[in-house]
Amino acid sequence: MQNFNYHTHTYRCGHADLDVKDEEYIKEFIKMGFKKIAFTDHCPEKNEIDKRTDMRMKYSQKDEYLNEIKYLKEKYKDKIEIQSGFEVEYLPGEEDNIRELKEESDKIILGQHFIYDDNKQLKILHDDNFTEEELIRYAEYVIKAIELKIPDIIAHPDIYMIGKKEFGEIENRVANMICETAEKYDIPLEINLAQVFRNTYYEKINVKRELNNDPIEIQKKKLSRVSYPNKDFWKVASKYNIRVLYGIDVHYKGQILKFKELVELANEIIGKDTIGKLKFIEM
Ligand SMILES: [Zn+2]
Ligand SMILES: [Zn+2]
Repeated sequence: MQNFNYHTHTYRCGHADLDVKDEEYIKEFIKMGFKKIAFTDHCPEKNEIDKRTDMRMKYSQKDEYLNEIKYLKEKYKDKIEIQSGFEVEYLPGEEDNIRELKEESDKIILGQHFIYDDNKQLKILHDDNFTEEELIRYAEYVIKAIELKIPDIIAHPDIYMIGKKEFGEIENRVANMICETAEKYDIPLEINLAQVFRNTYYEKINVKRELNNDPIEIQKKKLSRVSYPNKDFWKVASKYNIRVLYGIDVHYKGQILKFKELVELANEIIGKDTIGKLKFIEM
């Protein structure tokens, strides 16, 4: 069982549990037997391009964040290895600012949530709103980031399947474009567990999300709502010589404690055959 997790957020992004301190997540990781973790909160932007509120820390919070992780890294060094990092999006023109974040931290994961449209406006990926041309651009941004040696890991490479039912020709092409480059540069791809959590143990009932303890067989019945991990994407990935890992994408208390179950549920989606062919990294 994987005993590391390189995808952890904090209250600073504004959409993770606001009352959970960084240290509480560390304690849960230790309790669950993790040996190495990275905090990779949504990166601050030196040039504020993403105007949405509660999506990422402010640039003015960056030093406090890095200092806090540094302090915790030292405090818990006998129990768990802790790294600092950021989840970044690639945007043309922002390369130097992203590189600065890379120099200041241990790990960069690429969570490409948007692209520029033809009018250089930010187009955010949600519920099947990208044209075919834009889906290709999504792949091109991921490729560019890898070529520039920005990310250590590609988080949820299959996020472009959000809200989609069909894995057609264009979706297949996007998958192959990403996998080909990940193979060439030996950059691992993440099987992301956040959507699984949000649709099973933390599903929305009426308007509120609440933790439930339904048995795993009941949770399995809820998986049709999950857009990623996407079975077809990972089938494509399994044909390449690429390394993969699970990422909890921690935003909530309780997520870490359900790690084993979330892996089982993700595997249920992807299928035994494909899982058996994927090359999981050791550390
Ligand atoms: Zn987030
Ligand atoms: Zn994330």
